[in-house]
Amino acid sequence: MSREYDVVVVGARVAGSTLAALLGDLGVRVLLVERVRFPRSTISTHFFRGAGLVAVLDRLGLLDEVLALGPPRITREWDFGFGSPGPDEGPPQRAGDIGFGLSVRRAPLDELLLERARRCATVEVAQPATVRALVRDGDRVCGVKLAEGGREVDIRCRLVAGADGRHSTVAREVAPAMERSVEPLRTLYYRYVAEWRGPNGEPPDAAEFSLNGDEMAYVFPSDGGVTCIGLSASAAAFAGFRTAPDAELARRLEAHPGLMTRIGASVAVGRTEGGPPEANWVRAPAGRGWALVGDAGWHQDPWTGEGMDNAGLCAAHAADAIAGWLAGATSEDEAMARYGSQRRELVDASFDECTSIGRDLSQLAPGPAAGDRAAVLVTGMSATGKSTVLDELAGRGHRVVDTDHGGWIDTAGDEPLWREDRMAALLTEPRPIPLFVGGCVANQGRFSDRFDAVVLLSAPQETILERLATRTTNEFGKRTDERARILADLREIEPLLRRRATAEIDTRLPLAEVVRRLEEIAGTPPM
Ligand SMILES: Cc1cc2nc3c(=O)[nH]c(=O)nc-3n(C[C@H](O)[C@H](O)[C@H](O)COP(=O)(O)OP(=O)(O)OC[C@H]3O[C@@H](n4cnc5c(N)ncnc54)[C@H](O)[C@@H]3O)c2cc1C
Repeated sequence: MSREYDVVVVGARVAGSTLAALLGDLGVRVLLVERVRFPRSTISTHFFRGAGLVAVLDRLGLLDEVLALGPPRITREWDFGFGSPGPDEGPPQRAGDIGFGLSVRRAPLDELLLERARRCATVEVAQPATVRALVRDGDRVCGVKLAEGGREVDIRCRLVAGADGRHSTVAREVAPAMERSVEPLRTLYYRYVAEWRGPNGEPPDAAEFSLNGDEMAYVFPSDGGVTCIGLSASAAAFAGFRTAPDAELARRLEAHPGLMTRIGASVAVGRTEGGPPEANWVRAPAGRGWALVGDAGWHQDPWTGEGMDNAGLCAAHAADAIAGWLAGATSEDEAMARYGSQRRELVDASFDECTSIGRDLSQLAPGPAAGDRAAVLVTGMSATGKSTVLDELAGRGHRVVDTDHGGWIDTAGDEPLWREDRMAALLTEPRPIPLFVGGCVANQGRFSDRFDAVVLLSAPQETILERLATRTTNEFGKRTDERARILADLREIEPLLRRRATAEIDTRLPLAEVVRRLEEIAGTPPM
């Protein structure tokens, strides 16, 4: 084994093997390190979507090998308990160009991914081997301390990619900033059955979702002739699952009449497994000599079953960015900023909704208490505190879209403008929880009528100048010409915003009070 690589990838499941294989395809010298021997399962109900991991498998040229394991193509969905007793038929979730989702058990899937990476001439695999710590050169990560075969060696590289899951050693070592965090919310347990049939007696070709109050049961027809039956319940249910997992799952599934008869007619395979409630968070994605990919950098409750999609998509974005940097096409900073903004787009599409609805899944049921909640535009000039307020709202579990990030702005013309197709689509999505959209662009007026409230955040000129001088999160406004522009906008643009606003909040108030007023405007009960 050579002791110098371009990239050391720690962890060899969805995120790690995908990243290693895509880098290997481009001739990058990779050491892929995995602590456990494969094939080995990991806790997961392993459902993923056409526009997510299925598309990544396709890019890896691995889709045929995965389909050869025998998972049925998931080409539709059955829903029970979402307003009607069901079954209601729907299209597969985010099916993308490929048009179907899949459910593949982790032992065979992860082994195929690892073998795909191993086939690359420039990828070496160390397994079983454990990264114990990182090696540093000043403030830069420049390698790992690898324990393998009873010995510990230092391996040097240009970048360490932590794809080592939610209890990541790489993340522990680099102590990244926490971008979002929400306390543990739910627990999820599952088991397999054979001889599963669809609601009309047909061979399984659909994911099934059954809602009962705050609990959701899942059916994912999988490879190997088995079907995974899962159930997500509130954190309080964990005690029962931990003591008697089989009995607890069976008992709770009884409240799902659309599934129960067919569960009774199927054949149980293996034991009930699952996991405790775990914290939800998004960590900074990269720094000097390191990057976090998959669960290592971003973990959210599995009730939405998006972790594998997100891990695969993040790995693909990270591979493109890292390869560009190593080939000399971009600087490391540019590459990592690009990876960060692509990951942020994925996070924005998923994290806040997962964690806010995850507090109580009954929000998904249409009914007198549900229906669409408010959409609130939070606008204001530079340094009036929009980002701080939006971050706080996101941390409190609201759905938040900060249009300064995540590809909402079209910069093709003289003036940055919202991408109107995306904004129109966002405002027509169902809103089981309030939506706060932040931004200040010239074409926002075209959407004023589509928001339930338009809130202007404001502060006096002297407060704005002081914030511009002292803020560390945004360089805009440090230069004299930028400050002059901001003050001119304050004179000319702010009065126009004020005219269209339905409410104004002075952000010299304590942050908690600003957020409380926004929640009140959105008609949200205090959390
Ligand atoms: C109950 C449950 C159900 C779920 N259901 C779904 C679902 O239906 N659909 C879905 O998309 N997602 C689901 N998920 C989430 C999904 O399993 C994860 O998001 C996904 O596995 C993340 O992949 P990863 O490659 O980032 O990390 P992991 O799968 O956690 O892999 C990390 C790897 O790193 C290795 N490793 C760790 N530390 C070291 C070290 N120091 N040195 C070397 N190797 C190391 C580990 O051995 C492991 O193999 C579920 C999760 C749970 C808990």
